[in-house]
Amino acid sequence: MRYKRLAELYESLSATTKRLEKTEILSKFLREVDNEDKEILYLLQGDIYPEYSEKKIGISSQLAIQAISKATGTEKEKVVKEWKSIGDLGKVAEKLTKEKKQSTLQSHVLTTEKVLENLRKLPELIGKGTVNKKLALITELLTSASPVEALYLIRTCIGDLRIGVQESTIRDAMARAFFEEDKEAIDKIQRAIDRTNDLSLVFEMTKTKKLDKLKEVHLEVGKPIKVMLAQKAKNIKEGFEMVGKPCGIEYKYDGFRLLIHKKGKEVILFTRRLENVTKQFPEVVEYLNKYVKGNSFILDSEAVGYDKKTKEYQSFQHISQRIRRKYDIEKMQEELPIEINVFDVLYFNGKSQIDEPFEKRAKLVREIVKSQPYKIISSKMIITDDETKAEKFYKNALNDQQEGIMMKSLNAIYQPGRRVGQMIKVKPEERDLDLVITGAEYGTGKRSGWMSSFILSCKGNKPGEFLEIGKMGTGIKEKEEEGMSFKELTEKLKPLITSEKGKTVKIKPKVVISVTYQEIQRSPNYNSGWALRFPRFVSLRPDKPLSEIASLKDIEKDFSDQKRNWRYG
Ligand code: ATP
Repeated sequence: MRYKRLAELYESLSATTKRLEKTEILSKFLREVDNEDKEILYLLQGDIYPEYSEKKIGISSQLAIQAISKATGTEKEKVVKEWKSIGDLGKVAEKLTKEKKQSTLQSHVLTTEKVLENLRKLPELIGKGTVNKKLALITELLTSASPVEALYLIRTCIGDLRIGVQESTIRDAMARAFFEEDKEAIDKIQRAIDRTNDLSLVFEMTKTKKLDKLKEVHLEVGKPIKVMLAQKAKNIKEGFEMVGKPCGIEYKYDGFRLLIHKKGKEVILFTRRLENVTKQFPEVVEYLNKYVKGNSFILDSEAVGYDKKTKEYQSFQHISQRIRRKYDIEKMQEELPIEINVFDVLYFNGKSQIDEPFEKRAKLVREIVKSQPYKIISSKMIITDDETKAEKFYKNALNDQQEGIMMKSLNAIYQPGRRVGQMIKVKPEERDLDLVITGAEYGTGKRSGWMSSFILSCKGNKPGEFLEIGKMGTGIKEKEEEGMSFKELTEKLKPLITSEKGKTVKIKPKVVISVTYQEIQRSPNYNSGWALRFPRFVSLRPDKPLSEIASLKDIEKDFSDQKRNWRYG
């Protein structure tokens, strides 16, 4: 397909904020897409491979500036100047290409295959001397691009497509295009997306109108799956109301989610963000081979850190560094040991388990995991309908330094990627939120040179929209030894600065953090309409995707819960 057609689609999608209109535009387009062009579905999400692939485009704004400069024959300084005044590199590319095109003739016709071909070479290039090769690949595309094509090429390269299309819009558009928006079809398409994380594959099956084939789209060992997420209950009583009686109750371990895949001797570990972290946890590979029965399986678990001397469980922050660590693995393994707590099984010996009831899956977990404390165990669980027993179990969990409990419906299937009401978390009353940093202010005195206060944002109602909700300065340390320091956070945020004005900077929403706070107030000072009082930094949440930070609705709900609590005590 000509890339021009796709760029035009992006334009019309950007021209409306209404989801229904976007769905309509997209469904018309999808009807025209031939099977051989099915990989366009990745480009629609600003990607080049399925979501689970680790191969990402990853081009910095600096490199994009160089490419624009080279392709349009414009001085680099001028490109930067335009960027400062327009604020969107894509628009800069569009403008400069337009100016150039008035004097020269367009050289080639750009196709989506060519765009994918070049962009897919980018993640393959690593190490020294690759910058020029990357530059050449992007410049080649830009030289053949019309202004509007240049706009979307650059936005795709820097990972900021801004067409306001979410996965659910693409799902609805597929259903509209091929099944007249049949509700059952939407459901089946969603299930297939959740199981495969591959829009192109699902598109192909939807287009052939073989909905029943979608049912056969199954989990594959080695291919990451989105995890099932939990809803919240205020207390055990509400928990029982939500999941029914009796139910399974487990410890809510304070660690990080680990999806374990095994086929033969090969073990692959994924985080909930679908990142492969196998290399970082060699001991887990060993535990699986030794203590879990089965030739092939996918297990869902929480990895929890503990103190190597006292054996006391530690909070998530302690072990979070192991997730990113690429060197000194053995030393880390020794210093920060983890215990794997297996709580679910999604696949076992060639058979998907996700449509089986939870009770059966939980039983299977206990049959196959030979628990070895401080290495790998099946999660602590009771099945009960008795509130007193449940309260006692909850207390034990807190005494054992865990976060609370999970309450699970015995007959619930496993729904990848969904936040479901059949799995409930109950934690002690506390106010905490996951938010993203979207701005900062440089400090003065001993903090000069470092950012010292940070603007926090939640998700707005529109896709891709982030709304400011407060400023945070506490919880961050002066000295690096004491925890997250101003220096470390500043270094993390610096490459994400999008604009600067005096001491204030705007920051691309990328760094997700957990904060606690004392109160939510209405406020005209922030564009969310809300302000957090006394937000305090708790931890970085590299495991948490932007799509899962608190939304405006969550804030409104927390505000009304807060009022309710005051009234009653
Ligand atoms: P929180 O910030 O409260 O941990 P979250 O947003 O990380 O919540 P939720 O889905 O709300 O994730 O809560 C469930 C999380 O709790 C899971 O993602 C998992 O990492 C963790 N967890 C710990 N123990 C269990 C368990 N026994 N069963 C399921 N999840 C568990």
